[in-house]
Amino acid sequence: QKAEWAKLVNEKTVSKDGHHVELGANIGTPNDLQGVVENGGEAVGLYRTEFLYMGKDQFPTEEEQFESYKKVLEGMKGKSVVVRTLDIGGDKKLPYLKLPEEMNPFLGFRAIRLCLEEQDMFRTQLRALLRASVYGNLKIMFPMIATLNEFRQAKTILLEEKEKLVSENIPVSDQIEVGIMVEIPSTAVLADQFAKEVDFFSIGTNDLIQYTMAADRMNEQVSYLYQPYNPAILRLVKMVIDASHKEGKWTGMCGEMAGDEIAIPILLGLGLDEFSMSASSILKARSQIRGLNKSDMEKLAEQVLQFQTNDEVIEAVKKVTSM
Ligand code: PEP
Ligand code: MG
Repeated sequence: QKAEWAKLVNEKTVSKDGHHVELGANIGTPNDLQGVVENGGEAVGLYRTEFLYMGKDQFPTEEEQFESYKKVLEGMKGKSVVVRTLDIGGDKKLPYLKLPEEMNPFLGFRAIRLCLEEQDMFRTQLRALLRASVYGNLKIMFPMIATLNEFRQAKTILLEEKEKLVSENIPVSDQIEVGIMVEIPSTAVLADQFAKEVDFFSIGTNDLIQYTMAADRMNEQVSYLYQPYNPAILRLVKMVIDASHKEGKWTGMCGEMAGDEIAIPILLGLGLDEFSMSASSILKARSQIRGLNKSDMEKLAEQVLQFQTNDEVIEAVKKVTSM
């Protein structure tokens, strides 16, 4: 099987009936690039920049960040690279950044909430990204967006930094798409409004599931509620995809679900444009998608959206795709 998959390294990800989707990789450092290339990744769908900040005793400088971003952009040779701005706080702490103790870290001061307060830190990252943008196909993504206002504030800061660089005669690409993670239910529900302002969505199911089901993704005792195929989740995913397409935008997914063999047929049927997963899952997913008809998966998706439980969905997918 592995040998069969390996033949697909340079192939496109096209369904049996000719529909193309993009398979990207989630990475944490420039060192992960080799795996992306070896596994035929068509993009970097999520570059988690937290690792630049962790395991150190001070903030990474603009220069250090610039070098990392540049390396990834150049390494992908013009293929799309979605860089997520810092998603720290919650369970991920930095030794040099004092944050208040919180009762509910996952519902607290993290990611974009923190970046909009700690603006020096945020602006440094954005400057490094903007400077690196001329070395490839950069897309910038803000994490944990809950309101339109947060997105507008973040984008305003980005544009301010861009203006500054331009006035200093530092080259910045003007093709940078600016998007958001959809990982908070409020944002999925108002996706039609967000779609008018963002360039793209990337659905973060790891968090979207925990927030929709109100079940901590780390807590064993409530893990029975962590249900990726619960029709409540699938309907939110559909809302986001449909809203983006209505505005001529695209939707990706960078949570674990994007590389999951039960989810993939449904996501193909719902019209997901980009699937981002660990590099080691790409060839298997490509092989799976090449064996599916999108039109059949559309029918499957329509059917499972009417189901009541996670288990019914699993059963239907297995049956229809003869797993
Ligand atoms: C997600 O929430 O699905 C996601 C991709 O982000 P992280 O796992 O880094 O929270
Ligand atoms: Mg997340």
